Amino acid sequence: MSDCIFCKIVNNEIPSKKVYEDDKVLAFYDISPEAPVHIVVIPKEHIQSANELDDNNVYIVSHIFMVIKKIAKELGIAEKGYRVVNNCGEDGGQSVHHLHFHVLGGRSFKWPPG
Ligand code: 5GP
Repeated sequence: MSDCIFCKIVNNEIPSKKVYEDDKVLAFYDISPEAPVHIVVIPKEHIQSANELDDNNVYIVSHIFMVIKKIAKELGIAEKGYRVVNNCGEDGGQSVHHLHFHVLGGRSFKWPPG
């Protein structure tokens, strides 16, 4: 999508600090980190939100979680643990309308979130 920030990051029109890339998925540091480690993992394909997952594209979610497992280990947050967050839609607090998963680590988190 031409006006999507994350599509622009995929296409290298906006720079990002990448931690993982393959033909289907990109992971990069969040520009406004909420934790010592804050990575955003996205499908390269533009999927607006979790609401737009269907039988044809849902495979990407399992792939993303395998990528999360790998980068968590590489970034040293696997052992103590980390949080994976998907914000969906207005009440979910989604501000970028391209499916993404936040990976937050390096500190402990409270529950429930605010
Ligand atoms: P959301 O609020 O939609 O769940 O998360 C969007 C995330 O994208 C936010 O944490 C925000 O800081 C991050 N973000 C927005 N624009 C950019 C950008 O241009 N570069 C990077 N690296 N992160 C961005």
